[in-house]
Amino acid sequence: MQGLAARLGHDLILAEGFDTDSLGTFTNERSRTGTQVEAALAKARLACELTGAEFGLGSEGSFGPDPHMGTAAWGVEVVVCFDAASGQHVHAAAQGPSTNYRQASVSSWPQASAFAEQIGFPGHGLIVGRPGEAWFDKELGSMEALKTHAAPAFLQQGELWLETDMRAHRNPTRMAMIEAAAEALAARWLQGCPACAAPGFGPIRLIPGALCECCAYPTGAAKAQLLACAVCGHEQAAPIRATVPAQRCEMCNP
Ligand SMILES: [Zn+2]
Ligand SMILES: [Zn+2]
Repeated sequence: MQGLAARLGHDLILAEGFDTDSLGTFTNERSRTGTQVEAALAKARLACELTGAEFGLGSEGSFGPDPHMGTAAWGVEVVVCFDAASGQHVHAAAQGPSTNYRQASVSSWPQASAFAEQIGFPGHGLIVGRPGEAWFDKELGSMEALKTHAAPAFLQQGELWLETDMRAHRNPTRMAMIEAAAEALAARWLQGCPACAAPGFGPIRLIPGALCECCAYPTGAAKAQLLACAVCGHEQAAPIRATVPAQRCEMCNP
């Protein structure tokens, strides 16, 4: 975020005195409302309200199965920049398989300590128990503390729920991906609209229709990116490729 602010020519200040958990948490104590971009935008707006700054930054992550096979963990980080003067916002995202998103139900201390070691605890935060359980805790900082919390769970119910803490400040893997989203946002913000010069001209979706190099059938593979301006609605296609190999063709290789 520091790098993002510097590239946009601003100083970064942290909006304090606000608990972002009230906007939704990862452990289902309070569920998030709206889309991921809306959640990040709400934080960016709030940052402006709390600090009186001209621009506000907010981020929001989501985690789940990967969109390709559904078998690996996948993370999406969205960063939003809100312009309080115009009311406009620009967002960018980064996504990928490096999330360290894992959960386990363990029934002994050796299992618990093995899980904690695998996820890189205590460098990476660990959430112990479920909300409402006596041993529920998100702030443990050592294996000793984990052992103390785990003992009554094994005694009372023979089982303990463990999951990686997905809050950004306890999750170095997320921090790196948020940094990548912030980089993408800086690039997008600095891209002025060719029609009205507003900041934030950038890709909004892919345009399918790249031609099969064998039979020239228009395939579902992307031929271009659609770039758009959120202020004036100007759109422009940026070509990616004209043709794709026959393996991607629904006619040649259905
Ligand atoms: Zn074909
Ligand atoms: Zn425009």
